[in-house]
Amino acid sequence: MNLSTPGYILSLKKHELLQLPPNIGRPLTESEIRHILHTFLCTWKHSGDYTKPHASLPSTTSSNGCCTDFFINTPQALEVVNINRLLAFQLAQKIKEEYPEVNTNTIRVVNPSYSSTTLATNVANFINATKHTYLKKTPNGESQTWPDISYTSHDEVVLPLDEITASGVTGEGTLSVIGEANPGVRFAPIFPILINRSNGTKICGLKIVSIITFNPQEFNIWEPGQCPLCAAGSKPIRIRSHQKNNWQKLFA
Ligand SMILES: [Zn+2]
Repeated sequence: MNLSTPGYILSLKKHELLQLPPNIGRPLTESEIRHILHTFLCTWKHSGDYTKPHASLPSTTSSNGCCTDFFINTPQALEVVNINRLLAFQLAQKIKEEYPEVNTNTIRVVNPSYSSTTLATNVANFINATKHTYLKKTPNGESQTWPDISYTSHDEVVLPLDEITASGVTGEGTLSVIGEANPGVRFAPIFPILINRSNGTKICGLKIVSIITFNPQEFNIWEPGQCPLCAAGSKPIRIRSHQKNNWQKLFA
């Protein structure tokens, strides 16, 4: 077994994953991607042990205040430089398969602020994009704006890109901000998103291209007051609150 063998990466420990080159010469299998995300504590699933805490969703999600037994915290993986590059390379290959014109068109990658910015930079490199813009947050942090230092030109194709989607809402917002700031903009027919944890396949008509999908049936989200984990005595932990990151507490 070596790197070219599908499944080989399942045997690698954290320090070995950190040595991988971005191009391993083949697509990662779904279980290899899950292994990488799990190793870097990017995915959390409740074990069923009620003495262990569970997650209460942050206010940045559309399910603010609901409880869940599963969550994906992409920065845990994307802050690791070589894991970011490894996953970005995989997404770049998918983009080239689904949208071969990426090789000949003048491409501007655009991502929403801010979690997907480093991923988008790496993908832009691997697909030889000409430009990369990331949207800014408005001062109240609630929505996005086009940065006033960037101007698209009519020969460009805008390739929107994000790191995860749960509902498509951020994606729709991203497209509308780009469209409003750049009348007549040409979009690529695809919307690359590293991880798709929604049951959607398109955002505003653009096909979602991902390296992995987490089916919504794999996890539960409960409305406040209806969570069986709370009822059984498991402590809910707000993943992020008052700018405090509680993610590691879920693994204690
Ligand atoms: Zn709960």
